[in-house]
Amino acid sequence: MIPFIDLQSQRARIDSSVQRAIAAVLAHGAFVMGPEVSRLEEELAHWAGVPHAVTCASGTDALVMALMARNIRPGDAVFVPSFTFVATAEAVALVGATPVFVDVTPGTLTMDPASLDAAVAACRREGWGVPRAVIPVDLFGQPADYAAIGAVADREGLWILADAAQSFGARLGETPVGSLAPLTATSFFPAKPLGCYGDGGAVFCKDGDEAAVLRSIRVHGQGASRYEHARVGLTGRLDTIQAAVLLEKLTLFADEIELRERVARRYLDGLAGSVELPRVIAGGRSVWAQFTIALEGRNRLAAHLATHDIPTAVYYPKPLHRQEPYAAFPVAPDGLPVTEAACGRVLSLPMHPYLDEATQDRIIDLILSAVEDGACRY
Ligand SMILES: *Cc1c(COP(=O)(O)O)cnc(C)c1O
Repeated sequence: MIPFIDLQSQRARIDSSVQRAIAAVLAHGAFVMGPEVSRLEEELAHWAGVPHAVTCASGTDALVMALMARNIRPGDAVFVPSFTFVATAEAVALVGATPVFVDVTPGTLTMDPASLDAAVAACRREGWGVPRAVIPVDLFGQPADYAAIGAVADREGLWILADAAQSFGARLGETPVGSLAPLTATSFFPAKPLGCYGDGGAVFCKDGDEAAVLRSIRVHGQGASRYEHARVGLTGRLDTIQAAVLLEKLTLFADEIELRERVARRYLDGLAGSVELPRVIAGGRSVWAQFTIALEGRNRLAAHLATHDIPTAVYYPKPLHRQEPYAAFPVAPDGLPVTEAACGRVLSLPMHPYLDEATQDRIIDLILSAVEDGACRY
C-alpha cells in the first residue's frame, strides 16, 4: 500500500533539524512550558493573524478550554454539525451543555446557515437550552461560511467558536483561519495539515483578558500564584518537545500548503465529470486536510482501489447524532438529510504534499475506469 498520509517524506526534509531541536529540549530539561512553547505561540499567532495563541495538549482540549473560558455550562445549547469528528460535540457534552445538531451544505459539507437558523428557532421553542454558541467546523481543510453563520449568530446573540482542527493555514478572502471567529481551536494531531509527533492543539483569540483566562484554565485554573486557584481548570499544556517539533515543521508549512493545493488541483482536473468533487467556498483557500469525493458506489470503489494497493478512508461513516452517546441530543427541525446522504457516499483519497504525479495519475485512472465500467456509479 502507498501511504494515505505520507509523514516520512516530510520527516526526511527536516530530520536532522528535528533531532537537534529535540536534543536541545532534552539538554535544557524544561519539558513543561519550556522556551520553545512561547516561541511557538508567537509564530502561531502571527500565522493566524491574532495577538494571542494559547497552545494546549490536543484539539479537543482547545475546544473544551474555549467553552470553559466563556463559561458554557449545563442548561446552555451549543450548535454543532453532526458531520464532523466526534470531538466537536464531545467538547460540548464534556462541559455539561447540550449539543444541538445542524445539517451541512452539499458540496462544501460545512455547516448550513439555514439549518442553523432553524435549529436556533426550534431550540427556543422547545426549550432545549439557552442558545449560547455555535461551533462551525472547517471540514477537510476549508473555512466554513463564517459570513452567513455570523449573520445568524449576531441576530441570535450567539458567539462563534471555530473548530479549525483541520484547517490551520487556510484563508477566507484575505483573512487567515484563527481570525475568522473570536475564538478558534486547532489540533496538531500528526495527521492534520500541521501535525506534531504526538498530541497537541491551540486556541487563538483576539482578546488579552480572554487569553489570560485560557492560560489559567490550561494549568488547573491557576490564579495569582502557583497554589492559588481562580477557577476550575485542567492539565492542558503542550509538551515542550512537541513545540520544538512544530517549530521545525512550520518552516515547511507554507511550501506544503502550496504542494497540497497542486495535488488537489490535479485531482479536480483529472476526476472532473466522473464523481462528485469537493467544492471550496467562494474566496476560500483550503489546506486540503482531506480530498473527499462522493459517489453512489463508494464501498465498491474503495474495495477496488484497495486491490491496487491504494488506501482510502471514510470521513465520516456514521453521523454523530446517530452515535450512542449523542443520540438523545436534539437535531435541527428538518432533520439532517445532507449529513445522512454524505455518510453513505463520501470517500477520502490519499492526500498529502508529497503525493507524486505518477502515483496520483494511477489513482485517477483507476477511479475513472471503475466509474466508466459501471462498477461504481456517480
Ligand atoms: C482532529 C479533530 C478534533 C480533535 O483534535 P484532537 O487533537 O485529536 O483532540 C476536533 N475537531 C475536528 C473537526 C477534528 O478533525
